[in-house]
Amino acid sequence: MPETVTLLIEPVPAVEVAPDLAATMREVDAVAPALRVGELSTQRGDGVFETLAVIDGHAQETGPHLERLRNSALICDLPEPNLAQWRAAIDRAVAALPGNGEWALKLVLSRGVEHGPAPTAWLHAARANDFTAVREHGVAAVTLDRGFAHDAAERAPWLLLGAKTLSYATNMAALREARRRGADDAIFVSSDGYVMEGPTSSVILRHGEVYSTPAPSGAILHGTTQQSLFEHLAATGRATAYRDIPIAELGTADAIWLVSSVRLAVGVTRLDGASVAYDAAETRAFDDYLRSPRD
Ligand code: PLP
Repeated sequence: MPETVTLLIEPVPAVEVAPDLAATMREVDAVAPALRVGELSTQRGDGVFETLAVIDGHAQETGPHLERLRNSALICDLPEPNLAQWRAAIDRAVAALPGNGEWALKLVLSRGVEHGPAPTAWLHAARANDFTAVREHGVAAVTLDRGFAHDAAERAPWLLLGAKTLSYATNMAALREARRRGADDAIFVSSDGYVMEGPTSSVILRHGEVYSTPAPSGAILHGTTQQSLFEHLAATGRATAYRDIPIAELGTADAIWLVSSVRLAVGVTRLDGASVAYDAAETRAFDDYLRSPRD
């Protein structure tokens, strides 16, 4: 069984019922050249992506990830992706991977080559990092100013804030800054004083019996893991809320989690150098749920 699977995909229009979807994708060697030099994904980060987990042979939350890919493409004026084609690509990759272990499967849709005729698309699956230690022991985080107000998306839609674009250089810079400050991860806060998200995760807080997460204003990415966890919490009788969360509430929370598709839920143990309340048992319960097959 391979350790990676890479498929180059010829995007078919969303409205087209392609007779033979298998013929629109081909497996390539991940370490051999596959993209053209003029690719706008590499030159300008001009494209969108999704990363989903494959756990013990099951692609997690495929529907919500594909819906978000469609939404990101819409925000970026990219051609609407054909979700049946992407689903076929995911199925093909999953069938080629070993049926156990955790894998990160990335979907990329770029504007293609400058002045070129069509977008470029590919899928790449590789073994996920081992997150056992951080799931068990949590992470130290720092708050970092995102540099704009929490309503920036409505005032400046060209920032493409609600889209999962390939332009992640600032998110990666925030992670490096967190490490420089002796932490593992970051929580972005808006310039007008609200909690936003991590550079690669959503933030969930618990105060007493109530779980809250920043309202999906368009300035943050609406996380599939957070939504799945909130559905699970609601289904098991717990109270959940989407709201604007002032930064001060990070200091009064009974627990803070960073959640994302591949790392799953990790608890925050330290924030800006100070210890914060940490719930190891509930984090374990979240990760048990998140590892279960979810569609
Ligand atoms: N917010 C940002 C900026 C992200 O990059 C991610 C995931 O990479 C998330 C939130 C969490 O999204 P998901 O749970 O769908 O992985």
